[in-house]
Amino acid sequence: MAFENVSIIGLGLIGSSLSRAIIQSGLGKVSGYDASPDVRKRAAEINLCSTIADSPAKAVHNADLVILCVPVGAMGKVAAEIAEHLPADAIISDVGSCKQSVYEALRNILPHTIIPAHPVAGTEESGPDSGFATLFAGRWCILTPPEDAPALAVERLTQFWQTIGANVEIMDARHHDMVLAVTSHLPHLIAYTIVGTANDLEEVTQSEVIKYSAGGFRDFTRIAASDPVMWRDIFLSNKDAVLDMLQRFSEDLTALQRAIRYEKGEDLEALFSRTRDIRRSIVEQGQDDEAPDFGRKH
Ligand code: NAP
Repeated sequence: MAFENVSIIGLGLIGSSLSRAIIQSGLGKVSGYDASPDVRKRAAEINLCSTIADSPAKAVHNADLVILCVPVGAMGKVAAEIAEHLPADAIISDVGSCKQSVYEALRNILPHTIIPAHPVAGTEESGPDSGFATLFAGRWCILTPPEDAPALAVERLTQFWQTIGANVEIMDARHHDMVLAVTSHLPHLIAYTIVGTANDLEEVTQSEVIKYSAGGFRDFTRIAASDPVMWRDIFLSNKDAVLDMLQRFSEDLTALQRAIRYEKGEDLEALFSRTRDIRRSIVEQGQDDEAPDFGRKH
């Protein structure tokens, strides 16, 4: 069931965390490649992988599992670069944050078994130094195999993610994109908007925004500091689901605006009580730290 040679293309936060986790768990050898010569150099310096290849072809030539860890808009390009060099029985997977568009991009080019995956774990950091082996421990990894995917391949990839500590769930790709549009993509869009709006204000200076950020603003800035290229690609690739959720969100925001305008305090209180319960459930299910103020030291 295990894999002997795993190839990781893209050695940023997720690719480097995967490599560390695979090597620490003794799951197999890792051959890594990144388009950036600086990233390859750094990855070699910190012994990130068993080998660092200088081309995508060399990285995959004897792999039994290939995991693409590049921005979602680059998945098709990487597939084209490796297509002719892949062993026929290699399983191809990825970690992209949207699943339907990535699957279509890969399927158009590769005749191989493709089992897309999305580890719902991350930070706002990028690059090979930002990764860590425990990033996936206790987090969910969603697999979105196509209907005709071989059951054994799905089982092998499930075991792979479980060995590095993740909980695995199988989901339809379109459903995944809708769920993630509300739990991840919309919150990022809101954070980018709020931070942008605060930055553009004329009546409040930028130094005031920074000085008084502990009032709530700084919690949005963590999300709004996420990689611009990665998030550009996510919004363009999951366009329909994000626009649907944005429509719902705009309507709810208008309802809140009315509640404030007409001083409907009980409506506001009812909503804020429901949202507090959601926070409690996230902590109870081990998906965040229970320490107050996100565990910041005071
Ligand atoms: P990252 O830290 O920016 O790493 C991506 C790496 O891929 C960069 O080193 C980049 O090099 C390289 N790259 C770009 N195009 C390439 C190509 N054509 N061939 C080879 N390497 C290429 O990004 P990340 O956070 O690890 O995200 C990687 C993937 O994981 C994305 O699809 C993202 O949607 C998904 N994901 C991210 C998170 C998260 O929280 N960050 C969570 C779950 C899933 P350059 O910098 O030179 O472009």
